[in-house]
Amino acid sequence: MNPFINPLITIPFFKNYILDPGRIERLNAKKLEQYQNKALRKMVSYAYKVPIYNKKYKEAGIHPNDIKGIKDITKLPFISRQDINKNFPDGIISSNFNKTKGYVICTGGTTTKYCCNSGSEPVCTYTDMPSMLRGNLIAFRENRFFNLNWRKTRFAHIGNFNPFKYDEVFDKNVITYAKSFFSFKNYLSIQASKHTHKIIEKLDYFKPDVIISYPAIFQDIAYLKRKGYGKNIQPKLLLVGGAMLDEYTRSYVEDVFDCRMFNTYASCESGAEIAFECTERNWHIHADFFHLEAVDENMELVGPGERGRLVITKLWGSGTPIIRYTGMEDWITIGDGEKCSCGLRSPIFGKPVEGRVNSNIVLPDGRVFPPSAFLFISSVLHGLETFKVKRFQIVQNRVDEIEILLIIDEDLRDRGPSFDEIARKIKKIYHEKTGPDITITVKEVNEIEDDIDTGKPAPIVISHVDTFKNCNI
Ligand SMILES: [Zn+2]
Repeated sequence: MNPFINPLITIPFFKNYILDPGRIERLNAKKLEQYQNKALRKMVSYAYKVPIYNKKYKEAGIHPNDIKGIKDITKLPFISRQDINKNFPDGIISSNFNKTKGYVICTGGTTTKYCCNSGSEPVCTYTDMPSMLRGNLIAFRENRFFNLNWRKTRFAHIGNFNPFKYDEVFDKNVITYAKSFFSFKNYLSIQASKHTHKIIEKLDYFKPDVIISYPAIFQDIAYLKRKGYGKNIQPKLLLVGGAMLDEYTRSYVEDVFDCRMFNTYASCESGAEIAFECTERNWHIHADFFHLEAVDENMELVGPGERGRLVITKLWGSGTPIIRYTGMEDWITIGDGEKCSCGLRSPIFGKPVEGRVNSNIVLPDGRVFPPSAFLFISSVLHGLETFKVKRFQIVQNRVDEIEILLIIDEDLRDRGPSFDEIARKIKKIYHEKTGPDITITVKEVNEIEDDIDTGKPAPIVISHVDTFKNCNI
């Protein structure tokens, strides 16, 4: 049966369709807080029926009645990736949840590193049709901000459509049925692992207004566009997610497409976008859908403006509750309440998300760099005003050994600064930042290997160094 003819699904959806997109702009701070408090109480009551949460709450001596609102959230214990994994499947859903009507969604994880047997292990959670529909309403909010009409704007999404990935589950279970009622001719889904020439061909034929993908995919298609492919690809907006976007890649892609590129921030566990970057380049948090906290390495809360590890709480949805979940492992900085000049009222991050905790670069002297704070290469390439680096990757092989891999655009090899000059400048800046005892090697390579297990391009910063500091979440 088409779930869209089930009133138990469509009635709440249309109610949310009316209320959700505009809520955060409609409510003043006090009303928003009341909304969050009510949503949290509902989620905690729901979680109490889920075995892993029930066990943890009982061990902590907490009952849902103790949680009146967000101010009480710190009474609740954290839940980790391992907690979810060890209790999959029946321990992470309530006994009322109908598994046959639910969907399993898994994170990609990565085989490059298993940090203290946990770090990047894939994690699988449950969701269902109403939750997927609701999560998608966040996109309507963002579309509104960018003046995009979901019925008319041509969206091309180059994502991960492997089984159990959010994109695939959504396409198969939501779009397939929604097609009976709406035309989706203005939506194109492309598997990111396809050959870049094939992606360009499809985009060229489709002529998208908006392209959504990973940074490395944008860089690959931008490279081919630079070579004269995809003349009909003239988007108005590029939305990037799933990995960190560095300033060099951003300028490389924006220059080719002559349009702006903005970040979106989501995860499989969140089931919706948590935040998005506005035209003023601030990251707005969907605070009516998520409550975010940041903690230090001892799991103590850090204040606004201070960098910490993300602890996320979903204030909506069914399936697996996500309450004080530590498994996303990103560095974030909560804002101090400052409002953005773009006009949106939603809270903003103090600074952009800085990448995965387990990709930290840790030096022998104990200094720790979040991935985004170790991208000195971007400023070198910017300063040299060159686009001859087609792609790069920073790999820490040992605590005192860092390799910087560059793919050079053959057509630009003899133009502008030479490879040697680029390599020398990159090496110099990394030595200045790390100290002379670290071996820095800048190497030209023909390709950067993507990890097929993750179904998406390799990260731009990888660390193979395992340290306690990286592992205690
Ligand atoms: Zn803004």
